[in-house]
Amino acid sequence: MEHVSNRLSAYLDGQLPSDLRAQVETHLAECPDCSRELTALRQTSAVLQQLPLTAPSPVLLERLHASIESAVRRPVIAMERFIGLLSGIAACLALVGCLLLMQPHVTAPIVSTASVISSVPAAPAVWERDAVQLADESLDNTPETAMGQWMIASLSAHNAVAIPGGKSQ
Ligand SMILES: [Zn+2]
Repeated sequence: MEHVSNRLSAYLDGQLPSDLRAQVETHLAECPDCSRELTALRQTSAVLQQLPLTAPSPVLLERLHASIESAVRRPVIAMERFIGLLSGIAACLALVGCLLLMQPHVTAPIVSTASVISSVPAAPAVWERDAVQLADESLDNTPETAMGQWMIASLSAHNAVAIPGGKSQ
């Protein structure tokens, strides 16, 4: 006959149907191993039921909070180290970039770009000049400009009021 250790917990809790319960009891009468296991299970259950369900002590709560805080802080420290490493890598890359720029074959494209820029006519076309002038004139009439002028005026007025008070002290 098979051992009944997988049914002992249900047997102890009274959850087995009567036929299975009879089988377990028959086996327990013949098998010292399963009897010992049932005794151990019964004792464990009794100990667990006697444990007081009280609130954790202040010392225990303090330790619990400390352990939670240290667990939360640890990834932050790791992230700070990671960012420090990244900035170190960025500094190395910047240094390498400077060294590359100082080399002649890299500065050559920059010179060619400058020559392209210098080939653009210095004087703007007529339509460009008109467009810039239109933009300048329309700028004075925008609500943003009016608001800015109002703020400057009110600030100046405030300062004008504040200065005599400052002098009197
Ligand atoms: Zn057994």
